[in-house]
Amino acid sequence: MPAFQGKSVLVLGGSRSLGATIVRRFAAEGATVAFTYAASGAAAEALARETGATAHLTDSADRDAVIARVASCGPLDVLVINSGVAIFGDPLEQDPDAIERLIRINTITPYFAAVEAARKMPDGGRIIVIGSVNGDRMPLSGMASYALSKSALQGMARGLARDFGPRGITVNVVQPGPIDTDANPAEGPLKDVMHAFMAIKRHGRTEEIAGLVAWLAGPEAGLVTGSMQTIDGGFGA
Ligand code: NDP
Repeated sequence: MPAFQGKSVLVLGGSRSLGATIVRRFAAEGATVAFTYAASGAAAEALARETGATAHLTDSADRDAVIARVASCGPLDVLVINSGVAIFGDPLEQDPDAIERLIRINTITPYFAAVEAARKMPDGGRIIVIGSVNGDRMPLSGMASYALSKSALQGMARGLARDFGPRGITVNVVQPGPIDTDANPAEGPLKDVMHAFMAIKRHGRTEEIAGLVAWLAGPEAGLVTGSMQTIDGGFGA
């Protein structure tokens, strides 16, 4: 029987890149998958046709819209919070509204989405947030807001793991290093800078990250909670 047959999975931010690979992985393993998107309607529709997943237009910057979406898709066996944005540049010059929006998408919405999912989640459910190795290590200037937003997920996972542990619900952060996506193409301009920090000098593949997400969502990871699962080619080593 496929590993996630009969399981209900919601991926926040699933239209493209890593999120789409996670949608494909769970759909291929038999889950009933829903995902959200904001800007990429055509990609979302194509992915829904390809995988049989259900696409929902829901902006992760809108806390209440996400809470309502999570509630309407529940009860969920697995919630994956993937939507995330980065803004590069001099913090002295950056638009405060743009930075605040980043923090809403990357940090505030994940917290409320996780809490909402836990209301109806059956015992043994899984909450998985895509953080970043930049939550541990920030070797470049111009990305403080991103690092802040991803470090905060660590405290969230530790705390919610305590809150939901008695029900066997696990809460974990997956922390990728550079991975080949629309946001960070393997042949992009920062390739050499990023690879210089890595023990294994290549971008990760989205399938490698989705594999770790699937393992965390599966039965072998029932005792893994409140943890940061770093998958970064040694970027943070
Ligand atoms: P991309 O920018 O390539 O894709 C982002 C995905 O998130 C898209 O599906 C996008 O959907 C969705 N998304 C973005 N903003 C919103 C929003 N406001 N509401 C709903 N969905 C949204 O990013 P990656 O795939 O590279 O990154 C995925 C996650 O992995 C992020 O959390 C990122 O921080 C993290 N990460 C990425 C790394 C990398 O090197 N690529 C490294 C470490 C962590 P749409 O286009 O429809 O808005």
